[in-house]
Amino acid sequence: MSSSRQPRETRPASPESTRGAGPAGLEPLAVLPVFVPLQGKRAVLAGSNGGAPWKVKLLAAAGADVDVYAPEPSDELRAVPGEIVAGSVTLHERQWQETDLQGAAFVIGAMEDEADCIAFVAAGRRAGAIVNAVDRPHLCDVKFGAIVNRSPMVVGISTEGAAPVFGQTVRARIEGMLPRGFKAWIGAARDWREEVTARFHGFSDRRAFWERFTDRAFAEPDRVPTDRDLAELLGETEAAPKGGAVTLVGAGPGDAELLTLKALRALRNADVILYDDLVAPEILDYARREARTMLVGKTGHGPSCRQDDINALMVQLAKSGKQVVRLKSGDPLVFGRAGEEIDACRQAGVPVAIVPGVSAAQGAAASLGVSLTNRDAARRLQYVTGHDRRGGLPEDLNWGALADPSVTTVVYMPKKTLRVLLERAMTEGLAPGTPALLVFNATRPNQRVVEASALDLADRVEASGFEGPALLMVGEALRRTGADAVLATMEPDKLAI
Ligand code: SAH
Repeated sequence: MSSSRQPRETRPASPESTRGAGPAGLEPLAVLPVFVPLQGKRAVLAGSNGGAPWKVKLLAAAGADVDVYAPEPSDELRAVPGEIVAGSVTLHERQWQETDLQGAAFVIGAMEDEADCIAFVAAGRRAGAIVNAVDRPHLCDVKFGAIVNRSPMVVGISTEGAAPVFGQTVRARIEGMLPRGFKAWIGAARDWREEVTARFHGFSDRRAFWERFTDRAFAEPDRVPTDRDLAELLGETEAAPKGGAVTLVGAGPGDAELLTLKALRALRNADVILYDDLVAPEILDYARREARTMLVGKTGHGPSCRQDDINALMVQLAKSGKQVVRLKSGDPLVFGRAGEEIDACRQAGVPVAIVPGVSAAQGAAASLGVSLTNRDAARRLQYVTGHDRRGGLPEDLNWGALADPSVTTVVYMPKKTLRVLLERAMTEGLAPGTPALLVFNATRPNQRVVEASALDLADRVEASGFEGPALLMVGEALRRTGADAVLATMEPDKLAI
């Protein structure tokens, strides 16, 4: 190809992609979750309404020294000083006054009387405290959420008052998901942090240690970690081979939920991500924010970076100690020129690993709801390329195999040569009535399908005007009759013609 382009650095999350649901993207937030350290600080609660005892316990649990002012405390509130696990609670059986608020970091109004509460809250603000009022959201600077406590890890959940029961259910689910033993592991992390930081100077070594640590915690959450764990983890990290590496990662056909757990982990570990045009932008949202992302665009049409340049860049980055992810659409080993990239790494002595992905054919078949190897219709499944190195129809395709009535054929990169490919296959014996589909943008929100027969697919595709990466699928296994013809798995707007 005469025109070529250079690898181009891109931002980790483009404005378009951040509108999606990616974790690094920023959608509007109903509230800003922040965490307030209260260890050894003074907190004041005034009043004795129903919510008061629990709030006092919470403040004390966070390590605050709580002064409670209540002229007529409920029995429940009286019992609180004897029930706390941290901090301290002093009950003053009298009305609050302005000087009580001096030096308070956090104050809570828990009185029945609205006017009294308004005065208290104003006094709290004058004293420079963070202010909350039980059951009076309009008077609050900050609000409490539901809590999952694995201190030092704390999870806070808010629905901003929209659905408290829903929030409680989410809380219960998260409780179930986070083993209680995490508490001990995260506590150990806090205790070991300094030693680990002193031992490893580079970011990647520290990260490697904490990844090993996290793997252990997830593998044995209910075992209490010991100094032996620390010693082993330090040793393993030191012994691990140093330097960069390349991981070829399959990004799947588009839908980010089709990423494998390994792919996610590789993305999170990457210092640099070299990706193709065909990789859906949402997928890059799973990278670390600090990771460099570079578009090395290799679509079938239009200018691409030269494969040699990509190989050289990949090797050079890995040799400079970077963890390089070469992110490729679908599966890296299916029509992805992975062989050349693997060879380049091996020749340069750079370790290379491969994380498979869902190939476009699998994604398309799943969204169509068809079995590619339907037992009545197909004995064989073949993946074929629609163009050769020069972009034309490959001369050496096995036409007998394409005409075989008991095969399901998936043609990658079919668009330029669609008409000639089908015509030639029919000349070679493919029945003109054989079901033939072109699936555009498989698994993406803009997926479109043109469904026809080998004879008329090319015309229908032309008439459709659809755009985007597409796959040709041909074979009796794709014939849908009766109930099957109603595509339960497809949105109506995805089904065209
Ligand atoms: N390694 C990829 C294929 C790369 S070749 C895989 O395993 O899927 C590029 C071709 O893949 C495109 O020309 C198109 O034919 C196909 N392709 C990739 N993503 C696709 C998608 N979401 N929908 C339809 N076809 C797709």
